[in-house]
Amino acid sequence: MQSAYSLANAKLAEIRERNEAEFARRRSEVRSKCPEYSAVEAQLHAAGLALTRCVLDGAEQLGTIRQSIEKAQTEKKRILKKLDLPENYLDGVYSCERCRDTGFDENGHRCECLKRMISEYIGVNSNMTELMRAQTFESFDFSLFSSQPDVKGRSVLDVIKKAHAMALAFADGFGTHSDNLYFYGDAGKGKTYLSSCVANRVLSKGYSVYYQSAFRLMDIMEKLKFGRYDEEEAPQAEYEAKYAYDTDLLIIDDVGTEFVTAYSSAAMYDLINSRLNLGKNTIISSNLAPSGIDRQYGERMMSRIVGAYKPIPFIGMDLRRMELGRRKKC
Ligand SMILES: [Zn+2]
Repeated sequence: MQSAYSLANAKLAEIRERNEAEFARRRSEVRSKCPEYSAVEAQLHAAGLALTRCVLDGAEQLGTIRQSIEKAQTEKKRILKKLDLPENYLDGVYSCERCRDTGFDENGHRCECLKRMISEYIGVNSNMTELMRAQTFESFDFSLFSSQPDVKGRSVLDVIKKAHAMALAFADGFGTHSDNLYFYGDAGKGKTYLSSCVANRVLSKGYSVYYQSAFRLMDIMEKLKFGRYDEEEAPQAEYEAKYAYDTDLLIIDDVGTEFVTAYSSAAMYDLINSRLNLGKNTIISSNLAPSGIDRQYGERMMSRIVGAYKPIPFIGMDLRRMELGRRKKC
C-alpha cells in the first residue's frame, strides 16, 4: 500500500506520458499530410529562442521577433484549417487544462484534479472491500431489525436506531471532535456494516480511513518487531503499521477474537494510547463489552477505553443469516 499522494503522482505521470504520446502522434500526422508544416514549426522554435535571448539581453529587435512569431502562428492556423483540424490541435494535449497535468496551479497550490485523485486513492488505501465501500447510511435497512424485545426486554430496533444515530453524528461531525466509538456485540449484529457507513461518510469528506482487523494489525506489528518479513513484504507492512497511527480514522475490527501475546497487547495499548493523545479518532469493534476488555488486554487498556470511547451495543438476530434467508426466498 503506497501513500495516496505518491499513487496520485504516479497516475499524473502516466496521464502526462499518454498525452505527450498523443501530441507526438498529432505532430507527425500533420507533418505527413502537409510537409511545409515542419518549416513553420522550425520558424516558431527559432523565434521562441530568439525571443528568450532578446528578453534576457534587453535587445531591441523584440518587435521584429514578435512579428515573425505571429506570421508563423497564422501560417500554422492556415495549415490546420486546410487539413480540417481544430485550431488548437497542436497546442499541447492536456487532461486538465488548468494545471496542464502538473497537479499544481500557477500559485503552486494543488490543483482540483490532483486533490480528486488523492481522495480516490485514500479510498483505495482504506483496505475496505468493494462490498464495504457500498455500505452507506442511506442503504442501511432498518427493516432487518425486529421491534420485538430480546430476552433482556430491549427492543432490537430501538437499540440499532440509537447506534445508527450516534454513528451518523460521529461521521457528520468528523474533523470537529475527538470522539471515539466502541461497538460491541456478537458477530452478525451490524457492527461492520455501521463501521462501513461511518468510513464511507468520512472518506467522502476527504479524510483518510484505515480499516483493519485486530488480528492482522497485531500480526503486522509482531512480525515487524521480530523481523519476520522478507525484503519484499517489509515495506508494505511498515507502511500499514505507520498508517494505523497516522490515518484520520482508524477502525479496528474484531477486537477480542485475536490471539494476544505480551508483545501484541503492549503494541495495541501503544496504538490506542498514541491516537488518544494525538486527538485522532478510532472506532473499535468487538465481541467483548468494554468492561470485558481487561481479560484480553489488561486493566490499563480497559480504563483507557472506558474513559475515552462511547460504548454502543449491538443486539438481536444474526443479520448475515437473515440476509441469506431473504435471498433464498427471492
Ligand atoms: Zn489539474
